[in-house]
Amino acid sequence: MQLDLVQTALSCGAAKAALIDARQIVLSENFRKICEGNGCGMFGRCWMCPPFIGEIELLMEQVRSFPKAMLYQSIQEIEDSFDIEGMFEAGFQHARLSQKIQQQVQLDPSIEILHLSCGGCRLCERCAKADDEPCRFPEQALPSLEGYGIDVYSTCKDTQLHYINGQNTVTYFGMVLFREK
Ligand code: SF4
Repeated sequence: MQLDLVQTALSCGAAKAALIDARQIVLSENFRKICEGNGCGMFGRCWMCPPFIGEIELLMEQVRSFPKAMLYQSIQEIEDSFDIEGMFEAGFQHARLSQKIQQQVQLDPSIEILHLSCGGCRLCERCAKADDEPCRFPEQALPSLEGYGIDVYSTCKDTQLHYINGQNTVTYFGMVLFREK
């Protein structure tokens, strides 16, 4: 591998990043039921969310086919736990971070990657799906960790990345799964 993935994520602005063995990744098909519950309002409204990304069993298999991953996170301050606007803005910032990382990692010809980020893609302010139009940036759009069945809370437990990072902060995660070509 030509690129130091952890350094790449940190230099793009991630708060923390770590390499993990793919066996540390905890998967559960129950995340599809959570998506279907539509607590975030994006189910069926974003091309990078279920049901459009495919069957969860197949996506989990895809995750299992990679031997290693780089897990990263962004931590941003919000006014309080009711600051919905702040949380949305933090989500957009995280999507921008993921795009910066994506631009770097796809330059390394020695690895194949699967890059997953926070829910709802957020590359566009309003997903084209909401207007029944095709995805505007299919090459850059990133699906979510949970959409692929990844239990982020359990996966990061034994790493230096914490799921919760203090009062009045919001934390988002991304993961670059990779294998040498
Ligand atoms: S790139 Fe834009 S149109 Fe495509 S999935 Fe993401 S938000 Fe939707």
